[in-house]
Amino acid sequence: NPHVRHHMERLAAEGIDVVRVTYPDLIGTERGRDVPLDHLPTAWDHGLAFCRAVYHTSPQGDVVPVSGGLDAGLPDICVRPDLSSLTPLPWEPGVATCLGDVIDPSTGLPSPESPRDMLRSVLDRWNEQGLHPVVGPELEYFLCDAAQDTPSGWRRYSEVQGVVYTAGLRADSDNHLLRTLRLLRDMNIGVSSGNHEFDGSQFEINLTHSDAMTAADRAFRFKVAVKELARKEGRLATFMAKPFNGAGGSGFHLHMSCVDDEGANAFAAPSAPDGLSAAAHQAVAGILAHAPALAALANPTVNSYKRFGPGTLAPWLIDWGLDNRSAMVRIPPERGAGSRLELRLGDASANPYLLVAGTLAAALLGVVAGEQPPAPLEGYGYDTTKSSVLPMDLPTALDALEADTALTEVLGKDFVTSYLTYKRDEVARFQRHVTDWEFTEYAYHL
Ligand code: GLU
Ligand code: MG
Ligand code: MG
Repeated sequence: NPHVRHHMERLAAEGIDVVRVTYPDLIGTERGRDVPLDHLPTAWDHGLAFCRAVYHTSPQGDVVPVSGGLDAGLPDICVRPDLSSLTPLPWEPGVATCLGDVIDPSTGLPSPESPRDMLRSVLDRWNEQGLHPVVGPELEYFLCDAAQDTPSGWRRYSEVQGVVYTAGLRADSDNHLLRTLRLLRDMNIGVSSGNHEFDGSQFEINLTHSDAMTAADRAFRFKVAVKELARKEGRLATFMAKPFNGAGGSGFHLHMSCVDDEGANAFAAPSAPDGLSAAAHQAVAGILAHAPALAALANPTVNSYKRFGPGTLAPWLIDWGLDNRSAMVRIPPERGAGSRLELRLGDASANPYLLVAGTLAAALLGVVAGEQPPAPLEGYGYDTTKSSVLPMDLPTALDALEADTALTEVLGKDFVTSYLTYKRDEVARFQRHVTDWEFTEYAYHL
């Protein structure tokens, strides 16, 4: 096949001898196989087979009984490399990664559980409206060093405080950020800046805006790359929502706008009082209306809900505001071609494909229905008498997703069913587990 041969010749000239074909599972963990370059044509022709249970295997190794997995005798899924996504890994000489798309061999069609395909189907709906979403992700994470004397075996890399928006050695004595930033830049995933976040050991790296699929691919690859780079240094980078008591959580903010068929920003309306178009208001309204269900995707773990609270800059009230960081949806001050919204709801543990797809599905529902948002928040938020509150735990958010038939219709019923089964099993496993807190609280006095 000349198409594959062309890629192989290019890769060989760049010194690549292994292609890592990867795809996101339901929770956004990277799965994949390393394929020697001379086997790439076979992988391209036939796809790579994986046991479908990998979609439903928890980080602790439990195979979650999602329908069509264990109950069907652990059938195959087939992953086809998307050669347009081939990217050499700057820190692993000789290896290029390649994203794959998941096919269900029994139908020959994209798997309904494939996060990438789910996002694609949401984007098709936008395109039918003559609108094309533009997305810019911002991710925060914590860096940990190995420790002998902590229960987890990890401790924060640095606990120095007051270092938000610093760059350099004061809070990062080993220049982790600089090294990471350069390698990510060399990967061409659109890294635009990096800085220290509020808490010691917490970093933020921003990606430039792009079409929504590229943005999700980049955010997925970014998380994998940051984790890989930390492992190369014997460290752990975590995108958990709230890894430590006594420190803030890690957000996954999404900037979003859309362009029309002529490429003009459809959120811009220079003559409107706030400079925003009807479509922008409708998108905000859709996001707020579907926020309880969206939380199930944007805040997908039992840990996620510990990130929220007054003064955290992590929004727990359903509101929006003009350049207001205490609101769930912030409208950054730029206008014209830079008109956009920033959804601050998501935390870093979200599967990028599902966060992007869920946000765009909710916004689309607002646009299609011509919904109007409530008045924007004035002043510092966190006033429960002014705005309604998000679900405050994962089970409530999952129930909200199940109850949101309009959002489910856009995301796909089969997808939502698998997702709810997986996540409710996670909740049940957590609820059965005895935590350290319980022993400390109850063992001595009771
Ligand atoms: N760490 C905050 C969050 O969890 C965001 C802080 C910021 O505004 O950068 O969303
Ligand atoms: Mg930040
Ligand atoms: Mg932000």
